[in-house]
Formats: sequence, structure tokens, C-alpha cells
Amino acid sequence: GPLLRLILGDQLDPLHPWFAQARADVVYVLMEIRQETDYALHHAQKVLALFAAMRAFARQLKTAGHRVRYVAIDDPSNRQRLTANLDALIARYQATAVEYQAPDEWRLDTELRQWAAQTGVPVRMVDSAHFYGPRDAVARALAGHRQWVMEHFYRRQRRQHRVLMEGDQPAGGRWNFDADNRQPWRGNPPEPPDPRPCHDHRALWATIVAAGVRTVGDAQAGSCRWPIDRGEALAQLDAFVQHALPHFGRFQDALSSHHQRLFHSQLSLALNVKMLRPHEVVARAEAAWCSGQAPLAAVEGFIRQILGWREYVRGVYWAHMPGYTRSNALGHTRPLPAWYWSGETRMACLRAALRQTLDSAYAHHIQRLMVTGNFALLAGCDPAAVHHWYLGVYIDAFEWVEAPNTLGMSQWADGGLMATKPYVSSAAYLQRMGDHCQGCAYDPRQRTGARACPFNALYWDFLARHRQRLAANPRMALVVRQLERMPAADLHALRAQAQTWLERIDDL
Ligand code: FAD
Repeated sequence: GPLLRLILGDQLDPLHPWFAQARADVVYVLMEIRQETDYALHHAQKVLALFAAMRAFARQLKTAGHRVRYVAIDDPSNRQRLTANLDALIARYQATAVEYQAPDEWRLDTELRQWAAQTGVPVRMVDSAHFYGPRDAVARALAGHRQWVMEHFYRRQRRQHRVLMEGDQPAGGRWNFDADNRQPWRGNPPEPPDPRPCHDHRALWATIVAAGVRTVGDAQAGSCRWPIDRGEALAQLDAFVQHALPHFGRFQDALSSHHQRLFHSQLSLALNVKMLRPHEVVARAEAAWCSGQAPLAAVEGFIRQILGWREYVRGVYWAHMPGYTRSNALGHTRPLPAWYWSGETRMACLRAALRQTLDSAYAHHIQRLMVTGNFALLAGCDPAAVHHWYLGVYIDAFEWVEAPNTLGMSQWADGGLMATKPYVSSAAYLQRMGDHCQGCAYDPRQRTGARACPFNALYWDFLARHRQRLAANPRMALVVRQLERMPAADLHALRAQAQTWLERIDDL
């Protein structure tokens, strides 16, 4: 019998060594299963885009002469679980062995290992040939450090992979251009046109709905903007490098009420499902600097996200799973406000980020970190609830990258392993970085009273609640001193105001 090779939905890399030649004795298996549609409440576009991309990948494999067994969500033989389907397919094909690529999620890694140990045929795991280093690269690089500072790992990556290096020195004499990259955006230069394709997935959407899959957000099935194959992802990369990358750094942290992409790439889905390799995206950005198409600060800022952050969070994940998804260093227990699922709040910045998320399954990093994440942390929301929200609503959400970003970077639930200080701010930061405050029902300059922006009192209340813990952190010393100098009556008023907001949090 043949060899079965399992391809998971986030392993759509046509350049993987598996596909170098078509072999009659190999059957590639892809499956759409309820196990995967149901482990979180996913955004409609996420289910749709993944199934569409898996279908396109199967078609392209067949065209290239490979044998493919595609188990669709409504296939009568579909048992809707990964290993149950594998067992059935082994029997059906009389398969003699199974291979799979290393999964990126602990959940699937464990399930497949346990299954392999007791199934009747030899099972082998191979590398997914996607990342720069092995799962434990970060743990090895940062062994013995209490805090896992990304910057240390990133510099090693730059040296080891010879990215933006001049001899053994960083290009331009500096490792980090973040200081140049903190500007608000006032409309100039204009946001580049959306380079993504447009697909009509209405038939597929009807199939998904008929199968009973529950989702959140707007499917936009008639005009789905997410790439379904490597060719489309490469076109999107080209357009990004040409039009957006030159301005990426300067406006990386900017917020805008009417422009959701600004100068971000929206390549996270294509990267996470492996249509694109991180190396080629980094190489394209570096080449743009070499040829004078984009300034070094922009290119370094972009490369840092992929060569640095993306590889780093993966390493944090593998070093700390299982258990990381249950971390809750600050002991937060409040349920996530119901309006995270509807966008129905009068706070303009949150309303914009949430509505955009529900409409498009996308928000850029600062919206995720400093708007939705910031509020959830200040309000003391249960990090597990916050984690489940982020794991569901974004097009690029896979646990290995979502969990460290949400629990570590955004919610400080790992007690500072990842983030050197909690990412919290009052209204002043949001006002400086964006345009939401004009026209908001709340006033960013007021700290107490019915019209005060809730971010203000919640910020001081958060600092006061966690004062002891934060006082030990040198990066928080300045704000802790501000807190200590504040007249007792002022702090009391702020904390009473915070209580008022928290008691009616669902009505904010
Ligand atoms: P760009 O700004 O264009 O950046 C380019 C690429 O760099 C991204 O496509 C992504 O692959 C990578 N990247 C950038 N920042 C990070 C980061 N912090 N960690 C890992 N990779 C990064 N990213 C995900 O891919 N999946 C998630 O589920 C996810 N959840 C997040 C949750 C929270 C609370 C926060 C604060 C961040 C999260 N991120 C996640 C990281 C980041 O926000 C997204 O990668 C980014 O917004 C995707 O949009 P983009 O492709 O336009 O990114």
C-alpha cells in the first residue's frame, strides 16, 4: 500500500521537499474537520479563507501529478476528527506508513504523537521546513535568563543568518531604529491601495454553514480578500514592498479611525499557513533597502517583526507549553465585556478596532496591543478569556503565535517573562497616536466624571492595584513614583471612578 502524508491546514507550502517529485506510492491527505473549526469560536473569514486555501492547494498538487485525498467538511466518510480520519484512511488505502510535518500547535503535536505511539503502522514526523531555527532555538539562546529579552535573540538571529549586517556590525551602525518609528499618521503619504485579491467564496460558505460550523464576524463570502495560494501571496508581497514598506517604520505604531492597514503588510495569514517563507519575505525587504527603494529604519523595523518577534514567540511557546495558556500572574478574573463580540461601545477607539476586527478579521499590532489588549489588561479581564477571543477573531490566529502575544506581551500573564513591563497606557497615548478621540463620547483630558475617558481612571487604578509588584520593575519606576506623589484624595477619586466604570463595564 501507499505512504500517507498528512498536510495540516497551516502547512500549505508548495516548496516543501515533499513535493519535489510526484510519486505514485504517496497519497497526500488534507481534511476539513469540526475538530479544527470548533476548538475556538473562529471568525467566519478565517474558516472560509483556510478551507479555500486548502482546496486550492489540493488542486495544485493534483495538477502537478500528485495523488491527493481531500476530505471535505461535508464528505459522508468524514469522521470530523484528525486521528479518526487517519485511521479510516489507513484502512481504506491499506497504507503501510504515515508521515506528517511537525505541527506548530502543542495540541496537535501531542495528539499526533500519542496516536503514532499506538497505531498499527510506522509513523514519522518530518520538519515543516518553514522557520529559521528549531522549536528550542530561543530556549537555547536565552537559557539562564530570567527575562527572555527579544532584543538579545534578535541580534543573534541577525548575526547568524547574516541579515542587515556589514561585517560583524549591524547595517547603519545600529541594531534598532524603534526610536525613529513612533510617529502618528496625519494622512500623508496616503494609505496605499489594498493589494489583496478578491474571491467569490459564496458556494463554499454555504457548505460551511450547512455543516453547522459556528463562527463570529462578517464572512464577506462574495468578496473575500485573503490570498488562497502562494502566487497571490507573492503578488501581495510585491505590492507591499513597493508601496508600503518605505513608510512601514515611521507609522508602525500609528492608529487611524478610517484606515485599517496603513503601511502594514497583512501578510500574517500567508506566512502562518506557509504560503510564504519568512526567509524570502526578509530577503525581499533587505533587497529593497540595498537598492535604495526603502530606508533602513523601515526595513529594519519590518525585518525585526519576522526574523525577531515571530521566531521568538514561537520559541517562548514551545518552551512553556503546556501550561502557558493558563498563566495568570496578576490573578485577573473579570469576564471579557460582551461588546468585544459586537463592537457596541461608545469608546471610539475600541469601537473602531472591534468593528474592524469583526468586519475584516484583521487589526494591526498597535490596535491589538494598545487598544483591545490595553483595555482588557487595565480592566483586569481573565487572561484565558482574552486568549480565546484573540485565538478566534483574527485571520492569522494560531495558538503558537497568538498565545505568547496575548498572554505574554499583551496581558503580562506570564509575570514578565516576555514583556519587560506591562503594555498599559492612559488616554494620552491613544490621543497622541490616533484620531479617535475627536468625536468620541468620552474626553481624553478628563480623568473623573461621567465624560472622562475610562482609560484614565482604569490606568491609575491598575497601577495602584499592582503597585507592589510594579515597584520592583525598573522600567515602571517613573510611573510608580508619579503614583506615590499623587495626593491621596486624587488617587481616591480616580479609584472610585474606576470602580464606577468596572461596575457598568458592559455599558461603556
Ligand atoms: P506587519 O505589521 O506587516 O508585520 C509583518 C509580519 O511580522 C506579520 O505578518 C507577522 O508575521 C510578523 N509579526 C509582526 N509582529 C509580530 C509579533 N508580535 N509576533 C509574531 N509575529 C509578528 N500575530 C499572528 O500572526 N497571529 C496571531 O494570532 C497574533 N495575535 C496577536 C495578539 C495580540 C494581543 C497581539 C498584541 C499581537 C498578535 N499578533 C499575532 C502579532 C501581530 O499583531 C500580527 O502578526 C500583525 O498585526 C499581523 O498583521 P500584518 O501581517 O499586517 O503585520
